[in-house]
Amino acid sequence: MQNIVGFPEEEIKETLTKWGEKPFHTSQILTWIYHHKARSFEAMTNLSKSLRARLLENFHYSLPPIKKKSVSRDGTIKYLFELEDGSDIESVWMPSEGRNTLCISTQVGCRMACTFCLTGQLGLKRNLSSAEIIGQIMAVDRDLEELTENPISNVVIMGMGEPLDNYDELVKAIRLMVSPHAMKISNRKVTLSTSGLVDKIKRFEKEDLHVNLAISLNATENSTRTEIMPINKKHTIEELLETLRTYPLKATRRLTFEYVLLKEINDSHEDAVRLGKMLHGFKCKINLIPFNAFDRSDFQSPLESRVTEFQNYLLARNFTVFVRKNRGTDILGACGQLAAESFSVA
Ligand code: SAH
Ligand code: SF4
Repeated sequence: MQNIVGFPEEEIKETLTKWGEKPFHTSQILTWIYHHKARSFEAMTNLSKSLRARLLENFHYSLPPIKKKSVSRDGTIKYLFELEDGSDIESVWMPSEGRNTLCISTQVGCRMACTFCLTGQLGLKRNLSSAEIIGQIMAVDRDLEELTENPISNVVIMGMGEPLDNYDELVKAIRLMVSPHAMKISNRKVTLSTSGLVDKIKRFEKEDLHVNLAISLNATENSTRTEIMPINKKHTIEELLETLRTYPLKATRRLTFEYVLLKEINDSHEDAVRLGKMLHGFKCKINLIPFNAFDRSDFQSPLESRVTEFQNYLLARNFTVFVRKNRGTDILGACGQLAAESFSVA
């Protein structure tokens, strides 16, 4: 039986047509699931009894079950989900003034093997289905709906996994997030972060989804980038930037470049200078992410003074530059610390 959660709009329409039902029921079904948050077909009272019965025979409704919730001193909550096959994945909820952001996962593990990333050390276990991707948003929303009125205003696809390496399921999930019939999240409030899979970026730009794109650049020289991000062997910095130069952006939108600062690896003044040159002319903002340490890592966090100098150099060259605050470090909920608890016992 198919999960109705994450099931694409087009495919619902096709199924209805096959059953001899009117296609306009598609938006009614989606509205019930994603807007009214109905958990059963019984509740869909504007559908005929026979259609509800048919849906019940062919579909089930299920969200990833929450196995554990860890609450950080700063209000961040890390959710550990246990999936049907026993795999664990994590999502991180970060409340702040005026917005609540949920960071979701797209894979169990990741095969990009970036050396500074804990998830990368897991290797790829498997891809998540669109139901498991969008189900993280629905499960957290349900868990927090009594606490606050709009528990999730923004979604960042920056948790475990390389989203573009799970292309088809990712695109299905994003379509439902931004569809006016389904979750209705504005595409300005959804950000996809990638280590830079060039072919997939070229394909993604044609999907017409217009969510924000963040690129984990993380180095200014190919030798360094290859060392910390093996994907750079396949696609060099030049090739990546060339692809991004022509990435279609709407008038008020810009790309985000993420740059994890690793002490004495990529945090020098020369790096800042090269980064400024490389990104010259891009409509972009830069997010500097001081390395979040974890056990078994040889890397170190940069000195605070280095981070400030790096930022100031770029600010003086008229870039928009933020230093990403470390959220939820006490619960291993920060960038690159997600690997699911099971990893520590493995
Ligand atoms: N796979 C995607 C999205 C998940 S990683 C990507 O790489 O973009 C999200 C971000 O966390 C990336 O920018 C990555 O460079 C960063 N990151 C990974 N490990 C980190 C660590 N230990 N400290 C700080 N940032 C880290
Ligand atoms: Fe994968 Fe992103 Fe971690 Fe690299 S940084 S291993 S791409 S999750």
